[in-house]
Amino acid sequence: MTKLAGKTALVTGSSRGIGRATAERLAREGALVAVHYASRAEAAQETVAAIEAAGGKAFAVQAELGVAGDVDTLFGALESGLKERTGGTALDILVNNAAIMGGVAPEEVTPELFDRLVAVNAKAPFFILQRALTLMPDGGRVINISSGLTRFANPQEVAYSMTKGAVEQLALHFAKHLGPRGITVNSVAPGITNNGSPVFDIPEAVEQMAQMSTFGRVAEPRDVGDVVAFLASDDARWITGAFIDASGGTLLG
Ligand code: NAP
Repeated sequence: MTKLAGKTALVTGSSRGIGRATAERLAREGALVAVHYASRAEAAQETVAAIEAAGGKAFAVQAELGVAGDVDTLFGALESGLKERTGGTALDILVNNAAIMGGVAPEEVTPELFDRLVAVNAKAPFFILQRALTLMPDGGRVINISSGLTRFANPQEVAYSMTKGAVEQLALHFAKHLGPRGITVNSVAPGITNNGSPVFDIPEAVEQMAQMSTFGRVAEPRDVGDVVAFLASDDARWITGAFIDASGGTLLG
């Protein structure tokens, strides 16, 4: 599998979960992948090691998103990592994946929590994309990870879902803006995906969550990572501005 040979990719939040599976798949296709993380350096190193063990190329980049100077920190590390390995700073593929959830009742959402959700989940992806475009050659790929919760109600996540509604707008407007450069911009919306958090160790909880998908199971991260890898490939060159439902049929109702 070498569909992405010679390409470079940044996957935000790829130390764990969907981001990690995406990074691993892009690397398996031949891309050099920047594995971004916030604080779990060990998890990021594990992802890099797994990629290398499978014959791929990757390096870790640290940056806390949602704080002042976040994009400068991220791109400082990214550009030096790319330069060291490729001699340049071209970035072909951006996956805006890192995000945080809310998990509180609508009555409990504070202005501080709301601001943090917006900063990490909506503001950071916008400015990461803006900066990435200065490095992205024609024909590049941008994939923003949204959520089925922009189409499926969960009151505990109203503020989170508002940020995902915002991030979906990137595909519509940037797709139009970047079409002349052959750059595609799409949204991928996962449903419930086993990201290793403790709830996935509770069989009754997993069984209940599995009922939401028409396939009767929760997603594994690679179920989503494979969709992202398709959108990153040349095979998806004619898809832009799209909302891709990767929820295993959860949105069918
Ligand atoms: P996850 O397992 O919770 O991992 C989150 C990743 O984002 C980690 O790499 C983490 O880095 C990074 N991150 C978190 N906050 C950050 C911050 N402030 N600055 C920089 N990096 C930060 O994630 P996931 O569940 O796989 O979700 C991935 C994406 O899919 C998200 O956009 C999420 O909204 C979306 N999604 C997930 C599900 C699901 O059921 N899992 C469903 C729908 C949509 P550290 O390891 O350093 O903490």
